[in-house]
Amino acid sequence: MTQATGSGTAAQIIDGKAISTQMKEAMKAEVVALEAKGIKPGLAVVLVGENPASVVYVRNKGKACTEVGIHSVEHKIPAETTEAQLLSLIDQLNNDPKINGILVQLPLPKHINEKRVLDAISPTKDVDGFHPFNVGKLAVGEALFPPCTPFGVIKMIEHAGVSMEGKNAVVVGRSNIVGKPVALMLLQKNATVTITHSKTKNLKEVCREADILVAAIGKANFVTADMVKPGAVVIDVGINRLDDGKLVGDVDYAPCAEVAGWITPVPGGVGPMTITMLLYNTINSAKRANGMVAETGL
Ligand code: NDP
Repeated sequence: MTQATGSGTAAQIIDGKAISTQMKEAMKAEVVALEAKGIKPGLAVVLVGENPASVVYVRNKGKACTEVGIHSVEHKIPAETTEAQLLSLIDQLNNDPKINGILVQLPLPKHINEKRVLDAISPTKDVDGFHPFNVGKLAVGEALFPPCTPFGVIKMIEHAGVSMEGKNAVVVGRSNIVGKPVALMLLQKNATVTITHSKTKNLKEVCREADILVAAIGKANFVTADMVKPGAVVIDVGINRLDDGKLVGDVDYAPCAEVAGWITPVPGGVGPMTITMLLYNTINSAKRANGMVAETGL
């Protein structure tokens, strides 16, 4: 872990790229050990159409699988594919023993009902953790597949060596893919959790009480230094592209790093962790499919 630039009291940087590399090395060794038992984890990624950002995400997921030795299959199908055809592909993947994880890259073309498609993925292969069954499992503290981005947030806090137990955690944002699941995971780790959103009153004051502050808003530099408690852990999930092309998070990084105890950068923070946790969930799925115990650590 390195020190953020600035004054002598600057925060420790939680380096998502380094943690991700470390986790991938460990997973590589685990995949080798599984292969010795005749188990090869497999991930299927389905891409409908050619959304440029999605094409890049899918390529990166395939590359990461190769890096750790996971068998990956990309199903690139045309934008005109009907919902019935897509559902039939999902059914085929649900029944393919070589596939342990199924990921449908979002967004889908408008003529396809996203919810019907995600609900069709077998909950035992739902490595994104978006199926209502897995959302429920997370809510009751028995997560099989914790959603990847929030799961990455928890792993980063753990890698920083910070205990979540008994801490005040404030999550800004209540989306189904980040805010709500990260709040449930922090609760599972025995933090005292407050979820805030666009209708929250006195947001600044609420944030200033946070020992752990997670920003998942989607607004560039929204969290300012006066919202950060001195010494707090600040996790920035946001990814925002400015007019000049620069990528920034939801946290006004440099001034907040002067106040926080730990902080994640953008890029190089939560971003790299998302794919890493997808690999983690896929390996766990392969273990379960072969009757092995697979803990999530939550
Ligand atoms: P959503 O747009 O779904 O949710 C944003 C949340 O922020 C909402 O709950 C909204 O409140 C809240 N919000 C908006 N404005 C305010 C405000 N002024 N004060 C307080 N709360 C506010 O976004 P996501 O959760 O999908 O994503 C959040 C960010 O994380 C984005 O920048 C996204 O790009 C990034 N992201 C990064 C990932 C990664 O891999 N690193 C993965 C996923 C997302 P309300 O509900 O009241 O509208």
